[in-house]
Amino acid sequence: MRLIMIGPPGAGKGTQAERLAARMGMPHISTGDLFRIHLKASTELGRQAKRYVESGGLVPDALTEAMVWERLSQEDAREGYVLDGFPRNLAQAEEFQRRLEAARMGLDRAVYLRVAENELMRRLTGRWWCPECQATYQRTAASPGGACEACGVVLIQREDDRPATVRRRLRVYFEETAPLVGYYRDRGILLEIDGNAPVDAVARSIGERLAEDESR
Ligand code: AMP
Repeated sequence: MRLIMIGPPGAGKGTQAERLAARMGMPHISTGDLFRIHLKASTELGRQAKRYVESGGLVPDALTEAMVWERLSQEDAREGYVLDGFPRNLAQAEEFQRRLEAARMGLDRAVYLRVAENELMRRLTGRWWCPECQATYQRTAASPGGACEACGVVLIQREDDRPATVRRRLRVYFEETAPLVGYYRDRGILLEIDGNAPVDAVARSIGERLAEDESR
């Protein structure tokens, strides 16, 4: 099954994509995570992407697409994947569609997590991140930071989770990414999910809606 996750930053795409992928035995492919790995390793791609990622803007399509096609061509993605963070604008969506059609493949679903804007701001500015394994944790202003439960490394805030950058990322989302909701609705594959609920409830409703597809 080939799935993509759409939704604003902070909607829970990464968390839900991870769970879904684990449950279905498919790889979770996050373009944000891939960029962060390249940044950390200071690869050529990392150096080229750095200023865009850190300022909350989109990395140019050509760089992003080359990275995604390379990842999707790997063996573990042959039967399907949960793609999180791509496509991020209409040009990427159209190029992706051309690629899929050329390979006689189709996308099964675009899972759209809808979340209210004030909730997004709260989640993003309270998000702490493990620089080692990339796990994320929700913290409040009263008890920030701490250590990663998986690897014990001290948690940090992502450069792009600071309030000014978060506002820019949300603006970029509404201007560039939100039109994808209509794009996939028109193609008849949009699955709209209320993402305001707690993580487990959202995961359950995604699972139920996908199961309905399968029983048809
Ligand atoms: P994320 O973790 O999905 O919020 O992504 C972090 C950052 O990576 C974004 O703010 C962009 O700078 C970059 N990025 C991730 N996916 C894409 C994409 N499909 N196109 C362009 N830039 C992207």
